[in-house]
Amino acid sequence: MMKFPLTLDHLLDRGGRLFPDSEIVSRLPDKSVHRERYSDFHRRACALGSSLRRLGLKRGERVATLMWNHYAHLEAYFGVPCAGGVLHTLNLRLHPDDIAYIAQHAGDRFLIIDDVLLPLLEKFRDRAGFEKVIVVPLTGAPVPRGCDDYEKLVATARPLRIPPLREEDPAGMCYTSGTTGRPKGVVYSHRALVLHSFAAALPDVMGLANADSVCPVVPMFHVNAWGIPFAAVMVGAKLVFPGPHLDAVSLLDLYRSEGVTLTAGVPTIWMGILQALEAEPGRWQLTHGMRMVVGGAAVPESMIRAFDRFGLRVLHGWGMTETTPVGTVNYLKRDVTTAGEDERYALRAKQGVPLPFFEVRAMTERGPAPWDGNSMGELQVRGPWVAAAYHGLDAEQDKWTEDGWFRTGDVVTIDARGYVKITDRIKDLVKSGGEWISSVDLENALVGHPKVSEAAVIAVPHAKWGERPLAIVVLKAGNAATADELREYLAPRFPNFWLPDDVAFVSEIPRSSTGKMMKAVLREQFKDCKSRNQ
Ligand code: ADP
Repeated sequence: MMKFPLTLDHLLDRGGRLFPDSEIVSRLPDKSVHRERYSDFHRRACALGSSLRRLGLKRGERVATLMWNHYAHLEAYFGVPCAGGVLHTLNLRLHPDDIAYIAQHAGDRFLIIDDVLLPLLEKFRDRAGFEKVIVVPLTGAPVPRGCDDYEKLVATARPLRIPPLREEDPAGMCYTSGTTGRPKGVVYSHRALVLHSFAAALPDVMGLANADSVCPVVPMFHVNAWGIPFAAVMVGAKLVFPGPHLDAVSLLDLYRSEGVTLTAGVPTIWMGILQALEAEPGRWQLTHGMRMVVGGAAVPESMIRAFDRFGLRVLHGWGMTETTPVGTVNYLKRDVTTAGEDERYALRAKQGVPLPFFEVRAMTERGPAPWDGNSMGELQVRGPWVAAAYHGLDAEQDKWTEDGWFRTGDVVTIDARGYVKITDRIKDLVKSGGEWISSVDLENALVGHPKVSEAAVIAVPHAKWGERPLAIVVLKAGNAATADELREYLAPRFPNFWLPDDVAFVSEIPRSSTGKMMKAVLREQFKDCKSRNQ
């Protein structure tokens, strides 16, 4: 066979040539709607790449973005790597000190930024070392002096002469959200992004097709919006971007007006959407069977059931920054379609089945655990879109095993059918009297209680048992509950020693910029909380 490199320029050309009329719809900060076609997107992405080269961008150099999800960010997704550069998406929700550290550490040379985010840049620009700042004038306000105007660059560009790209060349870069330590950078090759696009588009993964209308709510700075922009362009789907408007009503309006068939985001987004749908059940006529890819944190079974009642289908997936990100996605294999309702829902709440070329094992001290659905081990993975190192961090090499697997830090069971279930992060497991208790299982059960809106379970020290679980609960507005009432609700579902000794009621659970519960903060906050049974 021919040696043909798996590079993103091929996807960009294909998009422009085969699907010139597919639409890219973006909600702008003033809520107006911007529309462009793939033919415009193709021309403008090439123009951006050409201008970056004229400004001096060399192969392998990093171009950072600080942008919401919209047409210009998509242009950068392709324009930067097709010009030989590396697209580094900065997380605008991080503290300015962290953004400065990440931009410095990555060695970002240029920055492309939304004009509405310039006040954020002012907080760290002096520490970041960008040579050039290119401003996307989303609001029409004049571009400040000393910055380049994105629209002018795109309008005046000469044709892009794509440098010969190799599939192993770096194309993208993202830092972990730092839930469990300092953010670490992962560099994605063209090859990894292309193969990930193929896998993500498969029918039993996201099932992306040309006829789809795809709305990534997950930010484009959160692990490539889970690879959706690349995969959607590959198939020529309509793309719908929410811009900065991520509240439930704005999203539901957008789903309805643009006929969205597939959307994606973290569970916190869907909690808001569900509440809005429940409050006004008849208000939005959504596409029946709209798929919602949910990942980044565990999806409670109660949420899957609730969306089913509205004819919306949750696709539960698991991934990490280090895995580009999608590693497993849940679908019902043909041998379980006849299972009873409860069994099917329990299965759909698992994190799913590994994608082709994505290998998994649950590692214990004695070797890989059997796939029996009970034996726990650390999830270790390998495949063509799994990172082989962190950018500039040799000290972290112990994250890879000697036989070439990546240690995810997640504890899982894998059942005989190959469904992976995340029990916990290693650091979050509760060890009581030498036995492990899964905080994720307890949390998912608690949010199934009609009065509970959110729940976190953490370990608190205990003189006799070492650790005991403490539940921290946010109740739905206007509800009251007691610790005993919630323990009674859990009792039939778990062994007795799993039941939290106590429940703390709070108004809010701290969450990270990517929607994960910040358990380290909770552990600090509740460190003096004595179990009531000691
Ligand atoms: P960070 O590791 O800094 O939090 P990531 O965004 O890469 O940043 O997070 C990856 C982690 O998120 C996984 O290791 C896992 O613990 C968690 N995660 C992702 N998807 C799921 C899911 N569907 N269910 C449970 N946990 C998940």
